[in-house]
Amino acid sequence: MSSRLVVPVFVSHRGCPQRCLFCNQRAIAGPSLEPGDVAREVLTFLARAKPRPKELVEVAFYGGSFTAIDHELQRSFLEEAHSLIEEGLVGALRVSTRPDSLPDESLDLLKRYRVRTVELGAQSMNDRVLAETQRGHSAQDTRHGVSVLKERGFFVGVQLMAGLPGDTRSSFFRSVNETISLAPDLVRIYPTLVLEGTGLAERYREGSYLPLPLDETVVLLARAVKMFEDANIRVARLGLPLFGVFSRPEYILAGPAHPSLGYLVRARMALSALVAFLDEERPAAVSLAIGASSRHISEVRGPGNSNLDTLKAKFSLERIEVIAREGLERHEYELFWR
Ligand code: SF4
Repeated sequence: MSSRLVVPVFVSHRGCPQRCLFCNQRAIAGPSLEPGDVAREVLTFLARAKPRPKELVEVAFYGGSFTAIDHELQRSFLEEAHSLIEEGLVGALRVSTRPDSLPDESLDLLKRYRVRTVELGAQSMNDRVLAETQRGHSAQDTRHGVSVLKERGFFVGVQLMAGLPGDTRSSFFRSVNETISLAPDLVRIYPTLVLEGTGLAERYREGSYLPLPLDETVVLLARAVKMFEDANIRVARLGLPLFGVFSRPEYILAGPAHPSLGYLVRARMALSALVAFLDEERPAAVSLAIGASSRHISEVRGPGNSNLDTLKAKFSLERIEVIAREGLERHEYELFWR
């Protein structure tokens, strides 16, 4: 089955009333596009992507505060993207925006132009963290925003960040729990990177902010993804808001940047699930075969077979192999002791 394809169109910093401490969209994606660039941008992207039915293709206005952009400019962007729906190239539209900028007239416009999904940049549900990162809105704005969007029938996404200044492990998981209680349709979780040209870069240079190390980020994200998925909330493909930033590595000053972050997180989740299984079931056998779906065998193995090495050492096993067993979901395993 084909997966959904989200085609990003960057409106870098458009509509943003201020600059958040960690944000430099121009480093991530370059300057904002204009309405007249939309069709070319989307067609170029589609030409490079695996073909999909149009119902699975969404054009997404990312990188700014879409519903806070000047109304006529919003309309121009939406008109350009909507014409691609009419041409049968795209199934729906999506925007990301701030939780405190959802005026009725913008929501009416989004409905009129077939915007299906609105992603809210919540980043944290902790007001102290929001103030420290200069977000300019509160957790209550996110609670209210999610409820308004649901009432209007939008598919709602919530974006969170791990490793923000002032955040701790426990306050991050409180944000996760509170987001679960809002029951969005999807969540997207980003690690905090220190990008050049941001207030966070200044704080990093003066020594008042240290980013999370990669291994800690992977552990935090693995637990958060499990919490969301256990609550039946879809987690958008994990990764970094990098798009172009790996082609501009000079912008990444510090932080847990890794091109396969999603894989590392899924491999960590596989390890935790297998440790839990083996803790419950420990016969005297020294050899184990793990059945997993063929698509997810590399997650079971972990990077460089590290998961298998960890399991062998922890459970005194001489041999572990991973075998393909169809009909299993991701993070579902069968154990065969030998
Ligand atoms: S995080 Fe969002 S609201 Fe803040 S400056 Fe960046 S694009 Fe604008």
